Amino acid sequence: MSDFERYSAKNSAMGRAWEMDSKAKKKAETPREPVVGICEKCKKETQVMPFRSRQTDRTDGAASFGVVVKHYCADCFPRKKRDEAPALSDKQVKNLLRGARKGLL
Ligand SMILES: [Zn+2]
Repeated sequence: MSDFERYSAKNSAMGRAWEMDSKAKKKAETPREPVVGICEKCKKETQVMPFRSRQTDRTDGAASFGVVVKHYCADCFPRKKRDEAPALSDKQVKNLLRGARKGLL
């Protein structure tokens, strides 16, 4: 095996490992199962969703970063701005419904 072959074999193995790692991360992050618990905000016992928030602590002048998992009910769950669909006007809703009906005919 030449140095080049050894080098590319090592590289592709690393690439595969990275791919597997990112796939595993994606899998771990997507399903968010609601669980029964106490909402962090309104303290109601209901179905809550885990929410990961980043926290920055400053102790003795040194900042430390950590991810804290909090649980919120559907009403209090903080939404990411980019996940929020822009509110549709009545006219837009009517147009959408009309379009959907047309599609069915
Ligand atoms: Zn709540």
